[in-house]
Amino acid sequence: MLVIPCPYCGPRPELEFRYGGEAHIARPEDPSTLDDEAWGAFLYLRSNPKGLHAERWRHIHGCARYFNVVRDTISDTILASYKVGEAKPDMDALARILAGGPRAAAGEEKSK
Ligand SMILES: [Zn+2]
Repeated sequence: MLVIPCPYCGPRPELEFRYGGEAHIARPEDPSTLDDEAWGAFLYLRSNPKGLHAERWRHIHGCARYFNVVRDTISDTILASYKVGEAKPDMDALARILAGGPRAAAGEEKSK
């Protein structure tokens, strides 16, 4: 079972949460100026990457708040959890952590 770290409550089992889709999707400032193709892209097109993905979750059986998580879609490893409105973490640094641990993220060579 996936353990998701809620930034308000701490680590909790996946059953307490609901997935809310991709994070950091900004609503257009003036939707009436968009053509149908651009509006459809805003509503329906998502990145769906193989690898690191910033996604929104809601702790429905806890604090009921929305928050964001960076999860590796291949291994289900959660690398970051942060409140809505906070900046998206450095995805390249998280990818280096995933690939080789914290020392790799700091730019150090792995010792053999
Ligand atoms: Zn919570």
